[in-house]
Amino acid sequence: MIEELKIYVEKVKESKLASLDRDQLNFGKQFSDHMFVVDYEQGEWKDPSIVPFRNISLNPATSFIHYGQSIFEGLKAHRGQNGEILVFRPGMNLKRLNSSANRLCMAELPEDIYFSGLKELLKLDKDWVPNGDDASLYIRPFMFGTEPFLGVKASDSYRFMIITSPSGKYYSKPVRVKIEKGYVRASRGGTGAAKAAGNYAASLKPAQLAKAEGYDQLIWTDAQNHELIEEAGTMNIMFVIGGKLITPALSGSILPGITRDSILSLARSFDIDVEERPVRVDELVKAAENGALSEAFGVGTAATISHIETIAHDGIDYKLSHIEDAPIANRIKKGLDDIKRGRVEDKFGWNLLID
Ligand SMILES: *Cc1c(COP(=O)(O)O)cnc(C)c1O
Repeated sequence: MIEELKIYVEKVKESKLASLDRDQLNFGKQFSDHMFVVDYEQGEWKDPSIVPFRNISLNPATSFIHYGQSIFEGLKAHRGQNGEILVFRPGMNLKRLNSSANRLCMAELPEDIYFSGLKELLKLDKDWVPNGDDASLYIRPFMFGTEPFLGVKASDSYRFMIITSPSGKYYSKPVRVKIEKGYVRASRGGTGAAKAAGNYAASLKPAQLAKAEGYDQLIWTDAQNHELIEEAGTMNIMFVIGGKLITPALSGSILPGITRDSILSLARSFDIDVEERPVRVDELVKAAENGALSEAFGVGTAATISHIETIAHDGIDYKLSHIEDAPIANRIKKGLDDIKRGRVEDKFGWNLLID
């Protein structure tokens, strides 16, 4: 038996919920009343607590600010059919958090602390999980090195926190993306498979340049030769070519997305032909030219599925069919939403019920 974890709780004096504009839920700007905090010091995770959402104070020499030991996760809680709260595959996020922690030489978080903290926080802030088909409570767990020391080494101490943010739809429009062959997000042997803050920092400049050229996002290619497709911006990428659902195999520089994994399982259960394998840029361009490429979409927690309407390569824009003509993406999106919101049987056992 695992002992029940004791969490210190300090509640807000007055909830901010009344001032939440429920018709204007944008992404990541409004935060629920409470947050979960636990510190790792001298080899031990200590004093897990839930406190009002508020600023934190840091020593200016705090190691992660300088050397970037900072990782995060993203997952969602949804309202089920009877108003119950369902969290989608939280165990996968813990697994990935700890594999990111391992790659960045950080402390790993024990399962009981993660699940007790997550459940207690969601119970306390349950009224922040919005209703509505496109709405959810976005959950952001994260960890960073806290040792106040300017020497370059792995931090001796860490902080793990969970904050949550009610959110509406993420990407609303189909996006225009450009195949990037200059900049890279990640290389083999690097930190691309970890959900590390620094990977995002590296991706901002190329994304900004693509924006200036009229594209919403990039398609990253492999760092060695720019011959293989990796990801779409901050999402994994999938294509339908000749009726098959095709996605790049995990290579070490691709982030192992939980949405990606869920879609592959769901598609197989729908008897859709699925291929996880290296996808060559020239193969994709050829399929776009000859019409075999019928759908392309990014997949990730924030948007679930983000339709791609245009793929640019070497200065040429290839237009894809309209969303209404993306039967596989639409079927998968609906299938996944139905599970997440408890409309169909959760046959994969993906939801954690908060009661
Ligand atoms: C988080 C992330 C994804 C998507 O992962 P999910 O678990 O599906 O949300 C894909 N690519 C990158 C680079 C990411 O950071």
